[in-house]
Amino acid sequence: MIANGAITGVAQYTDEVPVTKVTTAITVQGPDEIHYDETIACIHCARCVDVCPVELVPSRLAALSDQGRFDECRQMNIVNCIECGKCAAVCPSKIHILQLIRYSKESINRAYEDIAPKESSNLKLGCSCGSD
Ligand code: SF4
Ligand code: SF4
Repeated sequence: MIANGAITGVAQYTDEVPVTKVTTAITVQGPDEIHYDETIACIHCARCVDVCPVELVPSRLAALSDQGRFDECRQMNIVNCIECGKCAAVCPSKIHILQLIRYSKESINRAYEDIAPKESSNLKLGCSCGSD
């Protein structure tokens, strides 16, 4: 069961989730309609770059997000992503680009939410594990 459409939606682990005002669609698939694709390494085909309507580099953003390098994602204008899901839909490596981008955007939003705009430009983001 997918909340909010097949491309940009999020798979649900249970049907006991609330329907809210931001729920635009619910997609229910049978067992024969589900494809379990394995994610493999990026082959640098640039299909995701070609389809991005806001001229981002989704492959790079996904890799940086996966590494917790949120400050670099911000410098690459990740906040401009409109979460259309086109990059993930065309990726032959089945990389979860949209989920990684959302993860990074959410981390950036949390880090900046209580900071005034003029102070936020100096805030350093990144992995909280203690290593560089
Ligand atoms: S989800 Fe974001 S990064 Fe991917 S194609 Fe759409 S706007 Fe570009
Ligand atoms: S579409 Fe997928 S495999 Fe191709 S460059 Fe983008 S992330 Fe890499």
